[in-house]
Amino acid sequence: MADYEFLTTENLAGYIASKPELNSRINAGALVSVNEIGDGNLNLVFLAKDAEGRGMCLKQALPYVRMTGEGWPMTPDRARHEVESIQAHRALEPTLLPEIYLFDPGRHIIAMEDLSDHEVWRKALNRGEKHEGAAAAMGRYMGALAFGTSTFAMDREALSEAIARTQNPQLCVITEDLIFTEPVVSAGRNSVLPANEPDAADLSADPVMMRAMGQAKWYFMTHAEALIHGDLHTGSIMVRHPSDTWVCDSVKAFDSEFAFYGPVAFDIGILFANYIIAAARAYALREDDRAARCLGLIAQSWDAFEAEFRRRWPGRLDPRVWGDVFLEELIDRWGKESWLFAAAELARRTVGAAKTSDVQTLPDNLREGAARGDLQVARQLVREMDGDHSPARMAQIAASVLERCRTA
Ligand code: ADP
Ligand code: MG
Repeated sequence: MADYEFLTTENLAGYIASKPELNSRINAGALVSVNEIGDGNLNLVFLAKDAEGRGMCLKQALPYVRMTGEGWPMTPDRARHEVESIQAHRALEPTLLPEIYLFDPGRHIIAMEDLSDHEVWRKALNRGEKHEGAAAAMGRYMGALAFGTSTFAMDREALSEAIARTQNPQLCVITEDLIFTEPVVSAGRNSVLPANEPDAADLSADPVMMRAMGQAKWYFMTHAEALIHGDLHTGSIMVRHPSDTWVCDSVKAFDSEFAFYGPVAFDIGILFANYIIAAARAYALREDDRAARCLGLIAQSWDAFEAEFRRRWPGRLDPRVWGDVFLEELIDRWGKESWLFAAAELARRTVGAAKTSDVQTLPDNLREGAARGDLQVARQLVREMDGDHSPARMAQIAASVLERCRTA
Protein backbone atom coordinates (compact mmCIF):
# COMPACT_ATOMS: atom_id res chain seq x y z
CA MET A 1 0.00 0.00 0.00
CA ALA A 2 1.18 3.49 -0.81
CA ASP A 3 1.66 5.89 2.08
CA TYR A 4 0.45 8.87 0.08
CA GLU A 5 -2.87 9.86 -1.43
CA PHE A 6 -3.43 9.51 -5.15
CA LEU A 7 -5.00 12.27 -7.18
CA THR A 8 -8.46 11.66 -8.59
CA THR A 9 -10.79 13.77 -10.70
CA GLU A 10 -12.73 14.32 -7.44
CA ASN A 11 -9.93 15.50 -5.14
CA LEU A 12 -7.88 17.43 -7.70
CA ALA A 13 -9.65 20.80 -7.28
CA GLY A 14 -9.17 20.59 -3.52
CA TYR A 15 -5.50 19.83 -4.02
CA ILE A 16 -5.01 22.87 -6.27
CA ALA A 17 -6.94 25.06 -3.82
CA SER A 18 -4.60 23.97 -1.02
CA LYS A 19 -1.48 25.15 -2.86
CA PRO A 20 -1.06 28.92 -3.25
CA GLU A 21 1.49 28.43 -6.08
CA LEU A 22 -1.26 26.70 -8.06
CA ASN A 23 -4.30 28.56 -6.88
CA SER A 24 -2.92 31.83 -8.23
CA ARG A 25 -2.68 30.35 -11.73
CA ILE A 26 -6.09 28.74 -12.03
CA ASN A 27 -9.41 29.21 -10.28
CA ALA A 28 -9.73 25.94 -8.35
CA GLY A 29 -13.17 26.96 -7.13
CA ALA A 30 -14.55 27.19 -10.67
CA LEU A 31 -12.97 24.43 -12.70
CA VAL A 32 -14.96 23.64 -15.80
CA SER A 33 -13.21 20.37 -16.47
CA VAL A 34 -10.89 17.90 -14.79
CA ASN A 35 -9.84 14.97 -16.95
CA GLU A 36 -7.43 12.14 -16.61
CA ILE A 37 -5.61 12.35 -19.92
CA GLY A 38 -2.69 10.00 -19.42
CA ASP A 39 -2.16 7.89 -22.50
CA GLY A 40 1.20 6.99 -21.07
CA ASN A 41 1.88 3.75 -19.36
CA LEU A 42 3.53 4.80 -16.16
CA ASN A 43 1.83 7.67 -14.36
CA LEU A 44 -1.41 9.51 -13.60
CA VAL A 45 -1.80 12.66 -15.70
CA PHE A 46 -4.65 15.13 -15.24
CA LEU A 47 -5.66 18.29 -17.02
CA ALA A 48 -7.72 20.96 -15.23
CA LYS A 49 -9.31 24.00 -16.91
CA ASP A 50 -11.11 26.93 -15.36
CA ALA A 51 -13.87 29.16 -16.71
CA GLU A 52 -11.36 31.77 -17.87
CA GLY A 53 -9.69 29.19 -20.10
CA ARG A 54 -6.65 28.75 -17.93
CA GLY A 55 -5.29 25.23 -17.71
CA MET A 56 -2.86 23.22 -15.67
CA CYS A 57 -1.41 19.74 -15.96
CA LEU A 58 -0.80 17.60 -12.87
CA LYS A 59 1.24 14.43 -13.11
CA GLN A 60 1.59 11.99 -10.23
CA ALA A 61 3.94 9.04 -10.00
CA LEU A 62 2.47 5.94 -8.39
CA PRO A 63 4.60 3.40 -6.54
CA TYR A 64 4.00 1.02 -9.44
CA VAL A 65 3.52 1.06 -13.20
CA ARG A 66 0.05 2.46 -13.98
CA MET A 67 -0.53 0.15 -16.93
CA THR A 68 0.25 -3.09 -15.10
CA GLY A 69 -0.75 -2.21 -11.52
CA GLU A 70 0.83 -3.12 -8.23
CA GLY A 71 2.44 -6.25 -9.69
CA TRP A 72 5.20 -4.09 -11.18
CA PRO A 73 6.47 -1.82 -8.38
CA MET A 74 8.44 1.25 -9.42
CA THR A 75 9.87 4.05 -7.36
CA PRO A 76 7.70 7.19 -7.32
CA ASP A 77 10.97 9.13 -6.94
CA ARG A 78 10.89 9.13 -10.73
CA ALA A 79 8.77 12.29 -10.44
CA ARG A 80 11.75 14.03 -8.83
CA HIS A 81 14.01 12.86 -11.64
CA GLU A 82 11.56 14.28 -14.15
CA VAL A 83 11.18 17.62 -12.45
CA GLU A 84 14.86 18.13 -11.68
CA SER A 85 15.91 17.26 -15.22
CA ILE A 86 13.27 19.61 -16.66
CA GLN A 87 14.59 22.37 -14.42
CA ALA A 88 18.23 21.69 -15.30
CA HIS A 89 17.36 21.64 -18.99
CA ARG A 90 15.16 24.73 -18.79
CA ALA A 91 18.10 26.60 -17.31
CA LEU A 92 19.80 26.01 -20.67
CA GLU A 93 16.84 26.13 -23.07
CA PRO A 94 13.85 27.74 -21.33
CA THR A 95 11.46 27.45 -24.26
CA LEU A 96 11.96 23.78 -25.06
CA LEU A 97 10.44 22.26 -21.89
CA PRO A 98 7.23 22.86 -19.92
CA GLU A 99 7.25 25.37 -17.12
CA ILE A 100 7.06 23.75 -13.68
CA TYR A 101 4.65 25.37 -11.21
CA LEU A 102 5.16 23.07 -8.24
CA PHE A 103 6.76 19.82 -7.19
CA ASP A 104 5.25 18.02 -4.23
CA PRO A 105 7.83 15.44 -3.13
CA GLY A 106 5.53 13.93 -0.47
CA ARG A 107 2.87 12.97 -3.00
CA HIS A 108 5.17 12.78 -6.03
CA ILE A 109 3.10 15.34 -7.92
CA ILE A 110 4.37 17.70 -10.61
CA ALA A 111 2.16 20.64 -11.57
CA MET A 112 3.16 22.10 -14.90
CA GLU A 113 2.21 24.21 -17.86
CA ASP A 114 -0.83 23.06 -19.80
CA LEU A 115 0.40 21.98 -23.22
CA SER A 116 -2.99 20.96 -24.55
CA ASP A 117 -2.68 23.51 -27.37
CA HIS A 118 0.22 21.33 -28.57
CA GLU A 119 0.05 17.80 -29.76
CA VAL A 120 2.23 14.78 -29.35
CA TRP A 121 4.57 14.73 -32.34
CA ARG A 122 4.17 10.99 -32.98
CA LYS A 123 0.44 11.45 -33.53
CA ALA A 124 1.08 14.28 -35.98
CA LEU A 125 3.71 12.23 -37.81
CA ASN A 126 1.28 9.33 -38.02
CA ARG A 127 -1.10 11.60 -39.91
CA GLY A 128 1.70 12.70 -42.22
CA GLU A 129 1.86 16.27 -40.90
CA LYS A 130 4.96 18.39 -41.46
CA HIS A 131 5.66 20.42 -38.32
CA GLU A 132 8.73 22.24 -39.58
CA GLY A 133 11.42 23.14 -37.11
CA ALA A 134 10.63 20.45 -34.55
CA ALA A 135 13.59 18.22 -35.45
CA ALA A 136 15.99 21.16 -35.33
CA ALA A 137 14.58 22.34 -32.01
CA MET A 138 15.20 18.92 -30.50
CA GLY A 139 18.70 18.86 -31.96
CA ARG A 140 19.38 22.19 -30.29
CA TYR A 141 17.98 20.81 -27.04
CA MET A 142 20.31 17.80 -27.16
CA GLY A 143 23.29 19.99 -28.05
CA ALA A 144 22.54 22.33 -25.16
CA LEU A 145 22.33 19.60 -22.56
CA ALA A 146 25.34 17.75 -23.99
CA PHE A 147 27.41 20.80 -23.22
CA GLY A 148 25.61 22.56 -20.40
CA THR A 149 25.14 19.65 -17.99
CA SER A 150 28.58 18.18 -18.66
CA THR A 151 32.11 18.50 -17.41
CA PHE A 152 32.69 21.03 -20.20
CA ALA A 153 30.47 23.54 -18.43
CA MET A 154 30.23 22.48 -14.79
CA ASP A 155 32.89 22.65 -12.13
CA ARG A 156 33.89 19.35 -10.58
CA GLU A 157 31.99 19.64 -7.34
CA ALA A 158 28.74 20.76 -8.92
CA LEU A 159 29.07 18.02 -11.50
CA SER A 160 29.68 15.29 -8.92
CA GLU A 161 26.73 16.49 -6.92
CA ALA A 162 24.53 16.46 -10.01
CA ILE A 163 25.66 12.96 -10.95
CA ALA A 164 24.92 11.75 -7.42
CA ARG A 165 21.44 13.33 -7.30
CA THR A 166 20.45 11.94 -10.66
CA GLN A 167 21.32 8.29 -10.07
CA ASN A 168 18.21 6.59 -11.39
CA PRO A 169 18.89 2.84 -11.23
CA GLN A 170 15.32 1.54 -11.27
CA LEU A 171 14.46 3.42 -14.43
CA CYS A 172 17.85 2.71 -16.02
CA VAL A 173 17.35 -1.02 -15.50
CA ILE A 174 14.13 -0.82 -17.50
CA THR A 175 16.05 0.73 -20.40
CA GLU A 176 18.88 -1.77 -20.04
CA ASP A 177 16.51 -4.75 -20.07
CA LEU A 178 13.99 -3.55 -22.63
CA ILE A 179 16.21 -1.70 -25.09
CA PHE A 180 19.50 -3.55 -25.00
CA THR A 181 18.95 -7.08 -23.70
CA GLU A 182 15.49 -8.27 -24.57
CA PRO A 183 15.41 -7.57 -28.32
CA VAL A 184 18.17 -10.17 -28.68
CA VAL A 185 17.68 -12.29 -25.52
CA SER A 186 13.98 -12.96 -25.05
CA ALA A 187 12.58 -12.68 -21.55
CA GLY A 188 9.11 -13.76 -22.62
CA ARG A 189 7.83 -10.23 -23.17
CA ASN A 190 8.47 -10.04 -26.91
CA SER A 191 5.83 -10.45 -29.57
CA VAL A 192 5.53 -10.06 -33.33
CA LEU A 193 3.07 -11.01 -36.05
CA PRO A 194 3.37 -14.68 -37.07
CA ALA A 195 4.73 -13.48 -40.42
CA ASN A 196 7.56 -11.66 -38.62
CA GLU A 197 8.61 -14.56 -36.42
CA PRO A 198 11.48 -15.54 -38.72
CA ASP A 199 12.65 -11.89 -38.70
CA ALA A 200 12.71 -11.79 -34.90
CA ALA A 201 14.53 -15.14 -34.81
CA ASP A 202 17.12 -13.87 -37.29
CA LEU A 203 17.63 -10.77 -35.17
CA SER A 204 18.35 -12.69 -31.98
CA ALA A 205 20.59 -15.12 -33.85
CA ASP A 206 22.62 -12.28 -35.36
CA PRO A 207 26.08 -12.21 -33.71
CA VAL A 208 26.81 -8.69 -35.01
CA MET A 209 23.63 -7.37 -33.44
CA MET A 210 24.33 -9.22 -30.19
CA ARG A 211 27.80 -7.73 -29.94
CA ALA A 212 26.48 -4.27 -30.74
CA MET A 213 23.80 -4.51 -28.05
CA GLY A 214 26.42 -5.53 -25.51
CA GLN A 215 28.46 -2.50 -26.46
CA ALA A 216 25.44 -0.18 -26.37
CA LYS A 217 24.38 -1.45 -22.96
CA TRP A 218 27.85 -1.00 -21.57
CA TYR A 219 28.10 2.56 -22.92
CA PHE A 220 24.70 3.32 -21.44
CA MET A 221 25.71 2.00 -18.03
CA THR A 222 29.16 3.57 -17.84
CA HIS A 223 29.37 6.78 -19.87
CA ALA A 224 28.10 9.51 -17.54
CA GLU A 225 28.58 12.27 -20.09
CA ALA A 226 25.59 14.54 -19.54
CA LEU A 227 22.16 14.71 -17.93
CA ILE A 228 20.27 13.17 -20.83
CA HIS A 229 16.49 13.03 -21.26
CA GLY A 230 16.56 9.25 -21.31
CA ASP A 231 13.36 8.63 -23.32
CA LEU A 232 13.38 11.15 -26.16
CA HIS A 233 11.14 9.45 -28.69
CA THR A 234 8.54 11.29 -30.78
CA GLY A 235 5.91 10.54 -28.10
CA SER A 236 7.94 12.58 -25.59
CA ILE A 237 7.83 15.69 -27.76
CA MET A 238 4.94 18.12 -28.21
CA VAL A 239 4.61 20.39 -31.21
CA ARG A 240 2.43 23.39 -32.03
CA HIS A 241 2.02 25.44 -35.19
CA PRO A 242 -0.06 28.53 -36.02
CA SER A 243 -3.10 27.87 -38.21
CA ASP A 244 -1.56 29.46 -41.32
CA THR A 245 1.81 27.67 -41.39
CA TRP A 246 3.48 24.36 -40.59
CA VAL A 247 6.45 26.18 -39.06
CA CYS A 248 6.28 25.35 -35.34
CA ASP A 249 5.98 28.24 -32.93
CA SER A 250 6.57 25.92 -29.97
CA VAL A 251 8.28 22.58 -29.45
CA LYS A 252 8.59 20.94 -26.04
CA ALA A 253 10.33 17.86 -24.72
CA PHE A 254 8.48 16.32 -21.77
CA ASP A 255 8.25 13.09 -19.72
CA SER A 256 11.93 12.90 -18.74
CA GLU A 257 11.58 10.59 -15.74
CA PHE A 258 14.29 8.35 -17.22
CA ALA A 259 16.82 11.21 -17.04
CA PHE A 260 20.26 10.39 -15.67
CA TYR A 261 23.92 11.02 -16.46
CA GLY A 262 24.37 8.88 -19.54
CA PRO A 263 25.72 8.90 -23.07
CA VAL A 264 24.82 11.95 -25.15
CA ALA A 265 24.30 9.78 -28.23
CA PHE A 266 21.54 7.81 -26.50
CA ASP A 267 18.91 10.54 -26.90
CA ILE A 268 20.10 11.21 -30.43
CA GLY A 269 19.91 7.56 -31.48
CA ILE A 270 16.48 7.04 -29.90
CA LEU A 271 15.12 10.02 -31.80
CA PHE A 272 16.69 8.91 -35.11
CA ALA A 273 15.15 5.47 -34.72
CA ASN A 274 11.72 6.99 -34.22
CA TYR A 275 12.13 9.08 -37.38
CA ILE A 276 12.96 5.84 -39.20
CA ILE A 277 9.88 4.17 -37.71
CA ALA A 278 7.77 7.12 -38.92
CA ALA A 279 9.32 6.59 -42.36
CA ALA A 280 8.51 2.86 -42.21
CA ARG A 281 4.86 3.76 -41.77
CA ALA A 282 4.98 6.15 -44.70
CA TYR A 283 6.69 3.60 -46.97
CA ALA A 284 4.14 0.97 -45.96
CA LEU A 285 1.39 3.39 -47.00
CA ARG A 286 3.26 4.01 -50.29
CA GLU A 287 3.75 7.66 -49.46
CA ASP A 288 7.35 7.86 -50.52
CA ASP A 289 7.71 11.65 -50.41
CA ARG A 290 6.44 11.63 -46.86
CA ALA A 291 8.89 8.85 -45.99
CA ALA A 292 11.75 10.89 -47.42
CA ARG A 293 10.62 13.84 -45.32
CA CYS A 294 10.69 11.68 -42.17
CA LEU A 295 14.20 10.49 -42.97
CA GLY A 296 15.25 14.09 -43.61
CA LEU A 297 14.53 14.79 -39.94
CA ILE A 298 17.65 12.81 -39.01
CA ALA A 299 19.98 15.38 -40.58
CA GLN A 300 17.88 18.28 -39.28
CA SER A 301 18.26 17.10 -35.69
CA TRP A 302 21.89 16.16 -36.09
CA ASP A 303 22.89 19.44 -37.72
CA ALA A 304 21.17 21.46 -35.02
CA PHE A 305 22.72 19.31 -32.30
CA GLU A 306 26.17 19.77 -33.74
CA ALA A 307 25.71 23.51 -34.32
CA GLU A 308 24.51 24.08 -30.77
CA PHE A 309 27.33 22.07 -29.25
CA ARG A 310 29.90 23.92 -31.35
CA ARG A 311 28.30 27.25 -30.48
CA ARG A 312 28.77 26.54 -26.79
CA TRP A 313 32.20 24.95 -27.15
CA PRO A 314 34.25 28.20 -26.76
CA GLY A 315 32.86 28.39 -23.20
CA ARG A 316 34.39 25.06 -22.11
CA LEU A 317 36.12 25.15 -18.77
CA ASP A 318 39.47 23.69 -19.74
CA PRO A 319 40.44 24.63 -23.29
CA ARG A 320 44.05 23.70 -22.51
CA VAL A 321 43.37 19.99 -22.88
CA TRP A 322 40.03 20.04 -24.69
CA GLY A 323 41.22 21.41 -28.00
CA ASP A 324 39.75 21.39 -31.46
CA VAL A 325 41.02 17.97 -32.48
CA PHE A 326 39.33 16.55 -29.42
CA LEU A 327 36.10 18.33 -30.41
CA GLU A 328 36.12 16.82 -33.88
CA GLU A 329 36.74 13.35 -32.49
CA LEU A 330 34.03 13.75 -29.91
CA ILE A 331 31.40 14.80 -32.44
CA ASP A 332 32.42 11.97 -34.74
CA ARG A 333 32.19 9.47 -31.88
CA TRP A 334 28.70 10.69 -30.93
CA GLY A 335 27.62 10.37 -34.54
CA LYS A 336 28.78 6.77 -34.62
CA GLU A 337 27.28 5.87 -31.24
CA SER A 338 23.95 7.29 -32.34
CA TRP A 339 23.84 4.48 -34.92
CA LEU A 340 24.28 1.91 -32.18
CA PHE A 341 21.50 3.35 -30.03
CA ALA A 342 19.22 3.82 -33.04
CA ALA A 343 19.66 0.14 -33.89
CA ALA A 344 18.73 -0.87 -30.35
CA GLU A 345 15.61 1.31 -30.39
CA LEU A 346 14.49 0.05 -33.82
CA ALA A 347 14.81 -3.53 -32.63
CA ARG A 348 13.06 -3.11 -29.33
CA ARG A 349 10.21 -1.02 -30.72
CA THR A 350 9.59 -3.82 -33.21
CA VAL A 351 9.88 -7.01 -31.15
CA GLY A 352 9.66 -5.71 -27.57
CA ALA A 353 6.79 -4.90 -25.23
CA ALA A 354 6.56 -1.16 -25.97
CA LYS A 355 5.71 -0.87 -29.65
CA THR A 356 4.85 2.26 -31.61
CA SER A 357 1.49 3.38 -32.94
CA ASP A 358 3.27 4.25 -36.21
CA VAL A 359 3.58 0.58 -37.10
CA GLN A 360 0.96 -1.03 -34.83
CA THR A 361 -1.92 0.87 -36.39
CA LEU A 362 -1.09 -0.34 -39.90
CA PRO A 363 -3.16 -3.24 -41.23
CA ASP A 364 -1.34 -6.54 -40.67
CA ASN A 365 -0.37 -7.02 -44.30
CA LEU A 366 1.46 -3.66 -44.32
CA ARG A 367 2.72 -3.97 -40.77
CA GLU A 368 4.61 -7.11 -41.70
CA GLY A 369 6.88 -5.25 -44.12
CA ALA A 370 7.30 -2.22 -41.88
CA ALA A 371 8.37 -4.40 -38.95
CA ARG A 372 10.71 -6.45 -41.14
CA GLY A 373 12.17 -3.25 -42.55
CA ASP A 374 12.83 -1.74 -39.13
CA LEU A 375 14.65 -4.89 -37.99
CA GLN A 376 16.68 -5.02 -41.20
CA VAL A 377 17.65 -1.36 -40.83
CA ALA A 378 18.82 -2.06 -37.27
CA ARG A 379 21.02 -4.92 -38.44
CA GLN A 380 22.38 -2.87 -41.30
CA LEU A 381 23.23 0.08 -39.06
CA VAL A 382 25.39 -1.99 -36.71
CA ARG A 383 27.17 -3.47 -39.72
CA GLU A 384 27.96 -0.12 -41.31
CA MET A 385 28.52 2.20 -38.36
CA ASP A 386 32.31 1.91 -38.54
CA GLY A 387 32.20 3.32 -42.07
CA ASP A 388 30.38 6.44 -43.21
CA HIS A 389 28.12 7.17 -40.22
CA SER A 390 26.75 10.48 -41.42
CA PRO A 391 23.03 11.27 -41.03
CA ALA A 392 22.73 11.25 -44.82
CA ARG A 393 24.08 7.71 -44.97
CA MET A 394 21.71 6.57 -42.22
CA ALA A 395 18.79 8.00 -44.17
CA GLN A 396 20.02 6.32 -47.35
CA ILE A 397 20.26 2.91 -45.68
CA ALA A 398 16.84 3.28 -44.13
CA ALA A 399 15.28 4.37 -47.43
CA SER A 400 16.61 1.47 -49.43
CA VAL A 401 15.91 -1.19 -46.79
CA LEU A 402 12.41 0.04 -45.92
CA GLU A 403 11.42 0.31 -49.57
CA ARG A 404 12.71 -3.18 -50.29
CA CYS A 405 10.95 -4.74 -47.29
CA ARG A 406 7.49 -3.20 -47.63
CA THR A 407 4.66 -5.62 -48.25
CA ALA A 408 1.32 -5.74 -50.11
P1 ADP B 1 3.82 8.87 -18.72
O1 ADP B 1 5.04 9.18 -17.92
O2 ADP B 1 2.83 8.06 -17.97
O3 ADP B 1 4.19 8.28 -20.03
P2 ADP B 1 3.45 11.42 -20.01
O4 ADP B 1 4.26 12.46 -19.38
O5 ADP B 1 3.97 10.82 -21.27
O6 ADP B 1 3.10 10.26 -18.97
O7 ADP B 1 1.99 12.00 -20.27
C1 ADP B 1 0.97 11.20 -20.83
C2 ADP B 1 0.17 12.02 -21.84
O8 ADP B 1 -0.43 13.12 -21.19
C3 ADP B 1 1.03 12.63 -22.93
O9 ADP B 1 1.21 11.74 -23.99
C4 ADP B 1 0.21 13.84 -23.32
O10 ADP B 1 -0.80 13.48 -24.22
C5 ADP B 1 -0.40 14.26 -22.02
N1 ADP B 1 0.38 15.31 -21.33
C6 ADP B 1 1.51 15.15 -20.61
N2 ADP B 1 1.97 16.32 -20.13
C7 ADP B 1 1.11 17.26 -20.56
C8 ADP B 1 1.02 18.70 -20.38
N3 ADP B 1 1.93 19.37 -19.68
N4 ADP B 1 -0.01 19.34 -20.96
C9 ADP B 1 -0.94 18.66 -21.68
N5 ADP B 1 -0.92 17.32 -21.87
C10 ADP B 1 0.10 16.63 -21.32
MG1 MG C 1 5.17 9.01 -21.71
